[in-house]
This record gives sequence, C-alpha cells and structure tokens, in this order.
Amino acid sequence: MKCNRREFLKVGVMGTTSALIATNALAEAVQQYAAAEPFAFPDPVYRILGRTGMKVAMVGFGAMLTPEAEVIRVALDHGVNYVDTARKYMGGKNEEIVAKALKGRRDKVYVATKTPAESRTGAEIVRDVETSLKALGTDYIDVIQLHNVTGPERIFLPETREALARLKQQGKVRFFGVTTHTNPTEVLNALVDDKERFFDTVLVAYNFKSEKNLGRAIERAAKAGVGVIAMKTQAGGYVTEALGRISPHQAALKWVLQNPNIATTIPGMKDLSHLREDIAVMGMPFTYADQRILQRYGAAVQPFYCHLCGTCEGTCAQGVEISTVNRALMYAEGAYKNRELALATYRELPVTASAAACLDCAGCTARCVNGLNIPAKMERARTMMG
Ligand code: SF4
Ligand code: SF4
Repeated sequence: MKCNRREFLKVGVMGTTSALIATNALAEAVQQYAAAEPFAFPDPVYRILGRTGMKVAMVGFGAMLTPEAEVIRVALDHGVNYVDTARKYMGGKNEEIVAKALKGRRDKVYVATKTPAESRTGAEIVRDVETSLKALGTDYIDVIQLHNVTGPERIFLPETREALARLKQQGKVRFFGVTTHTNPTEVLNALVDDKERFFDTVLVAYNFKSEKNLGRAIERAAKAGVGVIAMKTQAGGYVTEALGRISPHQAALKWVLQNPNIATTIPGMKDLSHLREDIAVMGMPFTYADQRILQRYGAAVQPFYCHLCGTCEGTCAQGVEISTVNRALMYAEGAYKNRELALATYRELPVTASAAACLDCAGCTARCVNGLNIPAKMERARTMMG
C-alpha cells in the first residue's frame, strides 16, 4: 500500500493508523515513507552505559507513547539500539508493541523495562519480570528497573535484591537499574554510597530546568560507574507561542547531551516526525541559538512547570505527593497529551496522598521552591483527574 508523506503524518499524528491500515500494509507504508523522504538519518553516536559496558546510541527510544511498532523499527534500522518501556504504559500494551519491533533483531537491541513502584516482595519482583518477559517475547531483559524510586528505602530492600540477584543468575535479567523523578539527587547519591554498588543504571528526569545539584549528583554517579540515562529531557514539551513556529525540542535534547555524564536519553516518540526531530541531534553541538531558544521556552513555562523535585512535600501537612500529582498533570497537558497515562499515574496514589486530600485542608502550607501556585495545581488535577 502506498501512503504519501502527508497521509502518513496525518494518520501517525492522530494515532489512528491501526484502525485505518492493516499492519503489514502499514509496515510497508512506513518503510516507503522512511526511504522516500529526503531526510538524511544521521550516523548514530554511541556512548558507554556505565559499568554495564553496553554501547548505546546517545538518543535511545522512549516507547511509552508509541502506538506503532514500525516507528520503533525505523529507529532501530538507523542505529538506535536502546529501547525503554514499562508494562504500565498504554494500559499494559506497551511491552507488546516493543515485542513486535524486536522480532528478528533481539540480539541487536538493548531492552529496558520496569517493575511497578508498588512491588517490593521477592515474589512480586519475580512475577513482574516473568510477566514482562512474556509480554516482550524474549527470554532476557537487559536492564530491569525499579520504577519511580523516591528515596533510599526501596534501593536497599533485601528481598528485592535477593529476587533480582536470583533472576540474574537464571539469565533472565542482565543489569539492575532504578528510575527516579522525585528527590533524584538523594536517589543518585544513595546508589553511589551503596557499598555493594548493586544497581548499574539510573533513569533520571533531567533537563535544562534541573537544579545544579542534580548535575553534580549525575557526575558523581557516572564517575562511580553508574550508567545514567536521561528522561523528561523536554521539560514537559509544552506548547507555547513564545517561540512562534520554532520547536524547542532539539535544543532541549542537545542541552542534555552536551553533558558527557549522560550515556543516553529516551525521548518519547509517537511517530516518524518525532523520531526524525530527535535523532537528528546526534552529533550536533549545543549552540548560542539553542541557548536563546531554551531561555525563551523556559521563561514561557516557568509559571506552571514543576521540576518534580519533591521539595514541597515536606511542607504539606497532609502528606500529598505533590510532585506525582504534577507529573500526572504534565502527562495530560504537556507534549504527552496522554490522558490514559495521566490517570494511571494519578490513580497509583492513595487518595490520602492525592489532590483530593486538599479538600479537607484548612489552608495550604505547602511551598514551592520555584514559586508555583500549589493549591491551583492541585485543584486543576482534581478537575481533570477526579
Ligand atoms: S492544600 Fe496544600 S497543604 Fe493542604 S493538603 Fe493540599 S497541598 Fe497539602
Ligand atoms: S511544586 Fe515546586 S517544590 Fe514541589 S515538586 Fe514541583 S517544583 Fe518542586
């Protein structure tokens, strides 16, 4: 089936390709599109992922938003070799989409997935890994990550470690990692201070809006051999009129990649236009023009952009997980535009730690170090997510 660029972009952007085109025809259409366009895919640039020794393209593939395996396959055809997923994404279907992309090339791709944040016992960890192996259609996972670690506690749980070590002995996982959005500096430092150096990688929210001390913790982790992967590189990717037609995405990604302590990044890519925009930055320098773009974008999102640092949470009398509520809001309102992911993230919170707790609060004591209006954000979250 032939599909011209405009038609492909239309269906890809709308995320309705599956409904419109049978899978094989779609695969052919994507391949034709990728081959016919004048866009020159860059030579991939590789870095070493810490002590894992894995040589990974500096732009990896964040699969959380990708409805079509063919988009991942085009990336893999052009040197991208690290794919990050989790069962939680897309209502439990994301690993299955990645599985389709891996068919026939499993040995050429590094696959990272996650155990849910609520899994703590050995039995839960083993169950999660077995379920992911099945969904991914593989007999090993390259990096298994504890999802959404917010402090040292989960990193040191003996039962979790024993289960992971057993899975490694069985050849079902190769390396261990954690992911962190909230309190990332403390999490990174705990990984380094761990005498066993148990965890090999960290997937951390990091972008041009990040605090300076996070950059220092990343440097320390990288020097200790922890492979650092950056996510949330676009600072939410909010639509703003401040830049006219200029997209801040490439500048934001280049800003992250200019840091040699970042081994790779996993920008979320829904379609080929996202893929091209993101992988084009491999080998590009971060320029003065990029700096100016980020200044303007940063100023535009400042009034509502949450750094997810979690600093405010100690000032909330009710224990609301403000950073997680704000992250869910970002999934709904930022470039993600993913209500399903927003709801899934929000509903992971107990009601007592969600924005609903604010309804029983006499007056907001929570303070944002970046000047955000926390009660207004919580109200917005309640309106959008219940
Ligand atoms: S209103 Fe403020 S202090 Fe009260 S529960 Fe909500 S975030 Fe916490
Ligand atoms: S609301 Fe402010 S203090 Fe709280 S997590 Fe976001 S940026 Fe940090």
